[in-house]
Amino acid sequence: MTNGESMIAPCPFCAGVRTEVVEIDVGKWMVECRDCQTTGPIDNSPGLAEERWNDRQLYPGTGREIRRYG
Ligand SMILES: [Zn+2]
Repeated sequence: MTNGESMIAPCPFCAGVRTEVVEIDVGKWMVECRDCQTTGPIDNSPGLAEERWNDRQLYPGTGREIRRYG
């Protein structure tokens, strides 16, 4: 584990910076916001889970996630 600066983007819902990647099952990782308990996409490694969290976008003003394929 590392302390200090995180590579994980702030929460898209509450703008909280207390986001961290957690292992929710064996080999299953996701980013979670400690402030509003939002969780990000699940992936097979901490790095991928972070990437997918950082890559997510929301429709402005709605809080709805834009789903991107491919
Ligand atoms: Zn949040």
